[in-house]
Amino acid sequence: MSGDRVLIAGASLAGLRTAQALRRTGFSGSITMVGKELHAPYDRPPLSKEVLTKDVSASQVILCSTDDLRGQGIDLITGVEITDVDLSDRTVTCSDGNSRGFTELVAATGARPHQPFADAPRTGVFTLRTLQDALSLRSALAKAHNVVIIGAGFIGLEIASAARSLGGHVTVLEAAPAPLARSLPTAVARAVTSLATRSGVDVRCDAKVIGFTRQVDELRGVCLADGTVLAADVAVVGVGVQPCVGWLEAAGAPVDRMGLLCDATGRALEHQHLWGVGDACAWLGADGIARRHEHWTTIGDQAKVVAQNLTHRSRRQLTSAPYAWSDQFGHKIHIIGEANDADEVRILSREPTTLTAMFARQGHLTGACIVDQAPLALKLRRWIASSTPVCDIPPWQHSAA
Ligand SMILES: Cc1cc2nc3c(=O)[nH]c(=O)nc-3n(C[C@H](O)[C@H](O)[C@H](O)COP(=O)(O)OP(=O)(O)OC[C@H]3O[C@@H](n4cnc5c(N)ncnc54)[C@H](O)[C@@H]3O)c2cc1C
Repeated sequence: MSGDRVLIAGASLAGLRTAQALRRTGFSGSITMVGKELHAPYDRPPLSKEVLTKDVSASQVILCSTDDLRGQGIDLITGVEITDVDLSDRTVTCSDGNSRGFTELVAATGARPHQPFADAPRTGVFTLRTLQDALSLRSALAKAHNVVIIGAGFIGLEIASAARSLGGHVTVLEAAPAPLARSLPTAVARAVTSLATRSGVDVRCDAKVIGFTRQVDELRGVCLADGTVLAADVAVVGVGVQPCVGWLEAAGAPVDRMGLLCDATGRALEHQHLWGVGDACAWLGADGIARRHEHWTTIGDQAKVVAQNLTHRSRRQLTSAPYAWSDQFGHKIHIIGEANDADEVRILSREPTTLTAMFARQGHLTGACIVDQAPLALKLRRWIASSTPVCDIPPWQHSAA
């Protein structure tokens, strides 16, 4: 085992958590993380929250310094992209001209924002993924009067919250008939989104953006298919992400539009020495369906499973329920488990500041969405992970069907 060399492609949350978990599980071989960005691994959740409204510096979002990593026996190479991999020779080719060998490879290259507007003005239109994106958006929001967010997902609504707190007039445009459509049933999504509308954000669904107006190359407005033109100094495109797996595709790795396909142990399908953690990959669930969870906590859970399996050559599976939080308009939203394949939805409280909604399939709890109820979140995670029958769940028993 001490001769093992784990190479981690990507040096952000997924890469870092895997490296740290490997050391915690007693892995004694070498660990090298290779990342394209110049920073040590940093945290992304603050980028759509406090970084947009406060004077937060880069050092405040760094998760672990290069020195701390070195102290844990983890080598970090920054500013280097992995361009190719040979899975039989077990080597990667890097943008610095070097090839690096491995015995096990972990793909943790994350995702990049989807940008469907190739012809967007150069000034005034943003996406948000990196620290630099957040710092550029922060300085634009500080001066903006009219902010348009394209896409009513969680990150879009968090940016709307930040922009509104800075005093801007904020509009959120969603092409689908309902907001948060990828994450929640419509009635629950509408209750969550009313946190935004109550705070003065104009949320419009069925609003298809077809382009922009500009002066020279500076944004002036956002054009909708119905002929409306909304004045805008800043527009943020938040319409989902694409996994960064191009470097794996040519090598014959199992990759589709969801990313690297992995089994429930984190190993890439039909590949002995390739593993996936984080936003770059989709793991098979117990139902055989591959899902990509772009959730901070879930990534830590995946990393622990992969580290355990690598260190002990075991086949442990991920058993925890997916979990994410979102901070917006002064409230904390928790989303646990799966909502979209539910055959029953119960909304215990529709009041957005105490929302409690639970989802079930064939009589077993599969998911939940709650607002400002952290203690209930812990219980829900346990109940959902163990697929508890709804008849055993106290809040469900007390709810109207
Ligand atoms: C703005 C924002 C806010 C969020 N807020 C929340 C939240 O409130 N709650 C929550 O649960 N989750 C939240 N998330 C989700 C969570 O932070 C992400 O799921 C997580 O950061 C993904 O980590 P990752 O390491 O898989 O991918 P990434 O963080 O994308 O990291 C991948 C890294 O790999 C690098 N890379 C890509 N290709 C290559 C290559 N070929 N070679 C070398 N390096 C490469 C990239 O440059 C990047 O540094 C948020 C995400 C964002 C973007």
